[in-house]
Amino acid sequence: MSDVHTKEQRRRNMQAIRSRDTKPEKTVRRIVHRLGYRFRLHGCDLPGRPDIVLPRLRRVIFVPGCFRHRHPRCRFATRPATRPAFWAKKLGSNRLRDLRVLRMLRKLDWEVLIIWECQTKDAERLSRLLRQFLNSKRGHS
Ligand SMILES: [Zn+2]
Repeated sequence: MSDVHTKEQRRRNMQAIRSRDTKPEKTVRRIVHRLGYRFRLHGCDLPGRPDIVLPRLRRVIFVPGCFRHRHPRCRFATRPATRPAFWAKKLGSNRLRDLRVLRMLRKLDWEVLIIWECQTKDAERLSRLLRQFLNSKRGHS
């Protein structure tokens, strides 16, 4: 019996860890690092806790999952067949919270880049996107 509990506990721990350091997130970090930028992880002092924070550039990067955060017109943003009301509410509120966070960050003068999970699959394209964002006008010193 106690074994069951432990297993359940372990599963929960794993989930908690996975939701922080997802594979797409790691892919983005690796490229940003390779491009020569220094960054912080999980800006806990910022709205929405951006996945990657570049304080000197005043830029942040989010790497949301396509399903949970409703990537528009994305084939991964499927509608679950079971419990439609539950999911509509849940996913709808994710979307609203995301929009609120974006507005707050922009008001605080942060530039925001969203890299959707599905955009991390083409490394070359991803690298181009990141370079464009990190290199653009505001400039870094
Ligand atoms: Zn997507």
